[in-house]
Amino acid sequence: MSQRNAYLVINAGSSSLKFCVFQGSDAADLEVAFTGQISGIGTQQARFEAKDAHRHPLASVALSQSDRAALLGYLLDWIGGQLNGSVLVAAGHRVVHGGTRFSAPVRVTPAVLDQLEELIPLAPLHEPHNIAAIRALAESYPQLPQVACFDTAFHQTQPWQSQTFAIPRALTAEGVRRYGFHGLSYEYIAHQLPRVAPELADARVLVCHLGSGASLCAMAAGRSVDTTMGFTALDGVPMGTRPGSIDPGVLIYLMREKGLGVDEIETLLYHKSGMLGVSGISNDMRELEGSDAPEAAEAVELFCHGVAKQGAALAASMGGLDAVVFTAGVGENSAQVRSRVAERLEWLGVRLDPAANRAKATRISAADSRVPVFVIPTNEEQMIARHTIACLSTPSR
Ligand code: AMP
Repeated sequence: MSQRNAYLVINAGSSSLKFCVFQGSDAADLEVAFTGQISGIGTQQARFEAKDAHRHPLASVALSQSDRAALLGYLLDWIGGQLNGSVLVAAGHRVVHGGTRFSAPVRVTPAVLDQLEELIPLAPLHEPHNIAAIRALAESYPQLPQVACFDTAFHQTQPWQSQTFAIPRALTAEGVRRYGFHGLSYEYIAHQLPRVAPELADARVLVCHLGSGASLCAMAAGRSVDTTMGFTALDGVPMGTRPGSIDPGVLIYLMREKGLGVDEIETLLYHKSGMLGVSGISNDMRELEGSDAPEAAEAVELFCHGVAKQGAALAASMGGLDAVVFTAGVGENSAQVRSRVAERLEWLGVRLDPAANRAKATRISAADSRVPVFVIPTNEEQMIARHTIACLSTPSR
């Protein structure tokens, strides 16, 4: 009988670290064993929480440690006590930015870590935390193979027109270009869609990853052709706290007329805009949908308008539209958002079956819709686990 392996998937943020442990003998039979998070990293209130595969609580513990290495040590000890005979063989990390260098997952070595450090200026709010988790594990568990999986990598297949800003060439050459994000989610959908609808394997598909961060991807034959996020995860459709596309002249105005500095602009764009800024109530779609306030309704309206408008633009990038997929927290759960986006795309041949949409069926389009529409739950963690296995079984990668 083959050994059952365990794989740790880590998504490290500034003050929290989400994890998921998969068990299985290969990429085809991976099952979630537990999920959880460490919150309050770097504070005196760090907390460890874990659930089993059925989301039943397994642990909720206040921790006295506060630094990342000690907390990761706690996590690995806890996992070791839960594995029931299987062996933790590797860790896979979500790394937000792979720059132009990394177009595929890579096994972490000291040289790779140095190359990742060079990418920090491209994603200063996220990359340092991704790297810190990898370094902390590498120092405490040098024998544990680690794989970095990039949110940008899936978009490297885009044509140059999709990757290039109309700015002086020298800046483009320095790396000021559109990278795109949510790549692990889009890659998962690219694998799942042909299972759901084999006839769409070569189709032009608009994938709407609508969560607290939101973006759209134009995918042709399973490859990214264009996407709404660009140099950073600020661009594109309105999000929970980010504005999406905004006239850069607004930022010049804010600096010149209101005296805002770079940090204030960053806070405004990352944390105070989007649904939260427009509604003044919440960044959370569920709360906005449940609110009677006109400002909440306007925020949802602006979101649906932005998704449909940019979705239509991506249809132009693909030269047509054969299917639409909704995924992530809002895309998977909000029938209202799906229906309002679809209404605005009716002229492109999109029509929903209201009952199927309300029931969150996999296929939610009307029988006579020219463009089929699907709801496919995303699973970035599983994509990372699969990449980790593939990367470690290919010595040259
Ligand atoms: P994510 O970032 O993918 O976890 O998505 C988070 C977003 O999904 C939040 O704005 C949630 O309010 C939203 N969401 C989750 N469940 C629902 C639901 N049942 N109806 C509307 N929005 C939801």
